Amino acid sequence: MPEPHALVLPRAQQEPLRRSLSVIVPMLNEERGIGPLVERLQPVLEGLGLEWEVIFVDDGSRDGTLAILKGLNARDPRFKAISLSRNFGKELATAAGLTYAGRDAAVIMDADLQHPPELITEFVKHWRSGYEVVYGQRLDRTADSLAHRLSARAFYVLFQKLSGTSLPEGAGDFRLLDRKAIDAMNRMRERVRFNKGLFAWMGFRSVGVPFVVPPRHTGGSRWRPRQLLRFALDGLASFTTIPLRVWSYIGLVISLFAFCYAVVFLVKTVLFGADVPGFPTLIISVMFFSGVQLLSLGIIGEYLGRMYEEVKGRPLFLVSEELGIDKGAEPQESQTRSAQLHDG
Ligand code: UDP
Ligand code: MG
Repeated sequence: MPEPHALVLPRAQQEPLRRSLSVIVPMLNEERGIGPLVERLQPVLEGLGLEWEVIFVDDGSRDGTLAILKGLNARDPRFKAISLSRNFGKELATAAGLTYAGRDAAVIMDADLQHPPELITEFVKHWRSGYEVVYGQRLDRTADSLAHRLSARAFYVLFQKLSGTSLPEGAGDFRLLDRKAIDAMNRMRERVRFNKGLFAWMGFRSVGVPFVVPPRHTGGSRWRPRQLLRFALDGLASFTTIPLRVWSYIGLVISLFAFCYAVVFLVKTVLFGADVPGFPTLIISVMFFSGVQLLSLGIIGEYLGRMYEEVKGRPLFLVSEELGIDKGAEPQESQTRSAQLHDG
């Protein structure tokens, strides 16, 4: 058992094995999507010449998703499922699936057929030729609204400029991870999670496979605009501290400016005497500086809040039910946690 902060990745030295595959599908209220998904996914998986399993992660669905997953597991035990105790969000649901993925590689995909299962064949081909990460690369986003596309574009540019970690153009969550990359993901214990950033951060030999995103199979996107904004903020905050640090520079510039102004003011008073008006300047500067202070306090609050979230050290997710999960594939979370307990 490596200590939690060891730099060597657990299985990095071993010969790569490429015999089996886990497919991870996070789901929120997808009862109508499961049937069509399995219908298209299963033939693809059968054709790979690999031993496979599918791990559905029921992310606190309120419809019949779990019941359908039970039926599926009874029919074919290679379709497994874990059910989270409530809705934890797609990022954490994916993290949960990855801790249960016990095979040589894992494919992460959406349940709504916006990630065409046929592409997995291509992913596996690249994996066999030695790539450790293969990601689907969206060619166009015509399925999304214009506002969604524009804000996504702005986010990518901002993220790149601020964090120094570049997100590959159009790369989403649809991807194959080799065992090494799965282990690396499982060792990232942060609660406020931004998978796209984590994928880019961890590196490994990667290649993109272009594909066109079809419209959603049933229903609308499970994201609401407010959640998307929150998601973008979390992503930025977990990869850059520039917003936190930039205030010292702004403060420096403002104080220099104030100093120069004070000198000018002094000279003027000495030469021409004091002029009592100037009240507007006073009010304006008071307002300006209280604004700057509140803003910077707010930004410190954003980071402090996130640190508080992490420091609490709660588990990333809670599982209420496991379907067809073999005991060997216990999630690695418990191991990490017990290791930390011993350290303390
Ligand atoms: N999803 C989830 N938990 C959530 C929201 C979404 O597991 O809280 C799943 C959803 O069921 C789907 C995938 O994440 O399988 C992508 O969701 P969606 O299609 O709504 O997102 P979009 O394609 O608009 O990015
Ligand atoms: Mg979708």
